[in-house]
Amino acid sequence: MSSPTVSKIPTLVPSLDEVVSVLDDGLKKNFSNVSVSVVDCPDLTQKPFMLASPGLCGNARLADVGGPGFLLPLPQKDKKFRYSQIAECVELPGAFMIGAGAGPCHIVGVNSELIKNVKMDGAGGVTKINSHIAKVNPQDGGCILETIDKPEFSLMGNFLCSDGQPGKVLEVKASCRTGEENLMSCLRKALQARYGEKPVALGGVFLVEKGKANLHIMPEFSDTALDSQEKVNNWLKFYEMDAVLVCLGELVSHDPGYDLRVEHFHCFSDHGQGGHYHFDVTPKDVEYRGYFVLAESIYRIDQPVKTTQLGR
Ligand SMILES: [Zn+2]
Repeated sequence: MSSPTVSKIPTLVPSLDEVVSVLDDGLKKNFSNVSVSVVDCPDLTQKPFMLASPGLCGNARLADVGGPGFLLPLPQKDKKFRYSQIAECVELPGAFMIGAGAGPCHIVGVNSELIKNVKMDGAGGVTKINSHIAKVNPQDGGCILETIDKPEFSLMGNFLCSDGQPGKVLEVKASCRTGEENLMSCLRKALQARYGEKPVALGGVFLVEKGKANLHIMPEFSDTALDSQEKVNNWLKFYEMDAVLVCLGELVSHDPGYDLRVEHFHCFSDHGQGGHYHFDVTPKDVEYRGYFVLAESIYRIDQPVKTTQLGR
């Protein structure tokens, strides 16, 4: 496998205190109850998080790998990536990596959602892995959530990469949604409104602690070209899933022309549900709690030559 192309994109890294006020203001337009603060990262190896490292801190950066251009209109099933390759590309061989991608179809046997959660050992191997895939049950159309210990994926991925150390993080709590925005869009648009064309990047984990959320799972690849958003939406399987959902991913306030996925979170749980987070469906009851760090750069890896606005 040849080395993928890599572009390193610098980001703006404001002080955490400044970002607290920006996010607090933005969230208050969309939720009745909001609290944003800087805290010591809780031990994220514990329930319900079950992450592969205790914290999010140290050399935080984002990896934006491949993209919908490899999936649509027809899939390039030979687009495979190894976790170790991504850790090398982001110049962090011992990276802790969490986020959203496509499951390794050559291993799973079908197309699936990847919820990546791994700590690399710095020598091409894995220290700890608790990645999951979510796929569609061909019998009843339900969700199958499984752990997967093969450190590979297909097509695309959006990951926070860091040393996985304890340290200061942003804690975001929001409940009782009054506006139309989901949590990640609300955070992203608040940053975009404040920082304009200077990209601010953020990654981490949030919980849907109460309520229900709309998630999708990609079914097996389509034999026919998915060349409209209507066809993509008819192909995807949508579900209402229950709290507690652990959602891993990243967002970027502004794409400076690299075909970035500006927000992407995938969820897993200990009750057999998981997939790609869209929004909550219980505005009165929903409760979110998240922990995030600001990323110092974005690594655009294997950017598709042909892009698409579908499936984002
Ligand atoms: Zn996704």
